[in-house]
Amino acid sequence: MAIASGLPAGFNADSYDMIVVGAGYAGSVCARRLAEACGFHVAVIERRDHIAGNAYDYVDDAGILVHKYGPHIYHTQSDRVHQFLSRFTEWTNYQHKVLANIHGTLMPVPFNHKSLKLAFGEERGEALYRKLVETFGENKKVPILELREKNDPDLQEVADYVYENVFLHYTMKQWGTTPDQVDPSVTGRVPVFVGDDERYFPLVAHQGMPAEGYTKLFERLLDHDLIDVFLGVDVRDILMVDEDYAKVCGKPYGGEIVYTGPLDELFGLDLGALPYRTLDMQFETLDVDQFQPVGTVNYTTSEDFTRITEFKNMTGQVVPGKTTIMREYSKAYTPESGQTPYYAILEDENKQLYQRYLARVSRLTNFHPVGRLAEYRYYDMDGVVASALDLSDELVAAHN
Ligand code: FAD
Ligand code: UDP
Repeated sequence: MAIASGLPAGFNADSYDMIVVGAGYAGSVCARRLAEACGFHVAVIERRDHIAGNAYDYVDDAGILVHKYGPHIYHTQSDRVHQFLSRFTEWTNYQHKVLANIHGTLMPVPFNHKSLKLAFGEERGEALYRKLVETFGENKKVPILELREKNDPDLQEVADYVYENVFLHYTMKQWGTTPDQVDPSVTGRVPVFVGDDERYFPLVAHQGMPAEGYTKLFERLLDHDLIDVFLGVDVRDILMVDEDYAKVCGKPYGGEIVYTGPLDELFGLDLGALPYRTLDMQFETLDVDQFQPVGTVNYTTSEDFTRITEFKNMTGQVVPGKTTIMREYSKAYTPESGQTPYYAILEDENKQLYQRYLARVSRLTNFHPVGRLAEYRYYDMDGVVASALDLSDELVAAHN
């Protein structure tokens, strides 16, 4: 792999079989697969000054490995995704745990057997837990919106408590609206868990952290003789897309284009901007060994921020006497602000607007939108890798 800052004078797009826009998971996975499977010469164009997209991590001034764009915990049910990524990293055995700060008491989230006893007292908590087991079975994930629909007074009591103390204020902060107004798939990510598993991702097949960090994983993923990476280049300076053609550096481009940025940006937002939420992340280094007992504490009944992450608790890094934490403040995103579009707002109107942009590229057989931004989806890392592997399969089949 060659990594360059900026495009060289006389950059010749035609010397590449594929242009990949974005060096996050979506772009990097496609670049690697096509370089390996088809012998494609690939140019990866990334507007940031680093690879790894939103999974980027780096060592801060205190010597602590931090995640620049928010806490990233790898977890997947997919053996295919796991096998693919495991070529480029070893994994630690980190099992992510989250506590909710509910009026000063720390309770496990997803809300589980232990949380019930902390919230309702030993005896009542146990009785309510038995009712949940009778209704749903043990080791079951129950979305809060589903629990709220139950007509049983005991289940209503649990649902009301969890809705009010875990979901309502956190969701108001994160999305600016109540949990019943956001897409059910969003709150469904954090169910009530009928069981004792205290992990944030209970029952999941593979989870952990890349042993040397995410950026290292990406260095290996992109480390291939046929892949060139150009950092600090906004592709809009060289790529022009219209209904009938894609031009690179002013000339029609015949190779494949994998695009992992926001689709609306490519068209100058001419149908309107796709709505997103963004985050202000406030990092702070403290002169203590440890700040909080787990990787992340969610502030579900108080504070303006949604959660605090302590990176050492997730990476297992040992740095005596110092720790770096990060608070997340959610707010509306505006494209002209220079902020990062983190979370697509999955309302029908917005999904329809996305479809209108997608229709604009549907006739371009060599242009492939993929990833969390380009598909306007709420993907975890594994979902993006799966999507990129699927697209790669199609491209490999078309070129072999
Ligand atoms: P990105 O990582 O966003 O990569 C796209 C790249 O394209 C970017 O680097 C961007 O700079 C570049 N680009 C865009 N436009 C252009 C352009 N015009 N020219 C050049 N380059 C361009 N997932 C998990 O599995 N576990 C977690 O714990 C987790 N935590 C998260 C926490 C937060 C706060 C957020 C926001 C996301 C989290 N995710 C997590 C999701 C994860 O970040 C994404 O699924 C994944 O990183 C998306 O990869 P991608 O390649 O689709 O997009
Ligand atoms: N959520 C909540 N309280 C919590 C955790 C999650 O209300 O303690 C809701 C909230 O709406 C959030 C969604 O569930 O946006 C998904 O949470 P997750 O932790 O999966 O979000 P992410 O890590 O992607 O920001």
